[in-house]
Amino acid sequence: MTAGASTFREISAEVGYSGFALDRLSERRDDQAFIDSLRGQANARSLVVARDMPVLKSSGDALDPWFTLAQVAGLGPVRESVLLGRDPAGPVFASLLDDAASRVDEIPGEPGFMDRRVIVIPGRDELRIQDLRSLTLKGAFDRPTTALLGGAKSLLYWHARHRFCSCCGAPSTMAAGGWRRECSACKAAHFPRTDPVVIMLAHDGDRCLLGRQPRFPKGMYSALAGFLEPGETIEEAVRREIMEEAGVACGEVRFVASQPWPFPASLMIGCFARALSSEIVMDQAELEDARWFSRAEARAMFEGTHPEGFTAPQHLAIAHHLLKAWAMGGVDP
Ligand SMILES: [Zn+2]
Repeated sequence: MTAGASTFREISAEVGYSGFALDRLSERRDDQAFIDSLRGQANARSLVVARDMPVLKSSGDALDPWFTLAQVAGLGPVRESVLLGRDPAGPVFASLLDDAASRVDEIPGEPGFMDRRVIVIPGRDELRIQDLRSLTLKGAFDRPTTALLGGAKSLLYWHARHRFCSCCGAPSTMAAGGWRRECSACKAAHFPRTDPVVIMLAHDGDRCLLGRQPRFPKGMYSALAGFLEPGETIEEAVRREIMEEAGVACGEVRFVASQPWPFPASLMIGCFARALSSEIVMDQAELEDARWFSRAEARAMFEGTHPEGFTAPQHLAIAHHLLKAWAMGGVDP
């Protein structure tokens, strides 16, 4: 090891939806002439979202999420077009199609992880519209593209559901390349929301606490999680959620990693929490089961060899990385 080299490992860089690699051009967002000039560039490209799913060009097994701005205009009415940033290949936008451009066929089935709706753009059979979670699970795109799709989805979700001023109720309009909405009636400015969620592995050194919700895939156990509330620190939210869901008291809380989570627009804040008690009193409205797992059990869950058939969360989820870091002893809990 060379002098000054670090063994620091940023787990956040390994989770799904991290790695947004654009220059966000945040200092130029209020320069409308600049944004218009970017839109006019021949190398400008855009991701496209219909309702809240990416629209993809499909050719054989290959999926391509990129459209020229002229191609976007040909898909139908565009509700909003936001500037995500720029990379060496050119300016990058994300476009939200008006709902009138697509049609939804609800597919009956059990509610679960995947969005089962079938969304089509009439007359455009060469396009595929598919939920981002299943695209990510099958590794459809590289990390930077997946991160851009996640960021675009979260930002456009906010625009689609914040069309009116929350102060006075008048319609609001997009500004700053899509990173603000403004109300012309009361002059209020509104900014895109990111909702913080704490997700944590409580452990007593030798065992960690995992739970499962009824909607999880069969046999899968995961870290407990919940929304951070106004007036709370991350540490307080972690201790409260573990107490509420499993009745386990915790002391020291350590941040491990974070993850942008575009379902619809959260930041997952991953932590370890030192358990001070071991009896589990489960919140049966939230969880179907909760139990302690040894490191050997956790490793078996990753390897598919757990004697009871229990499995770990999928690699795109931060819970996978929290559990793996603990199970492999890769970070000091
Ligand atoms: Zn207003």
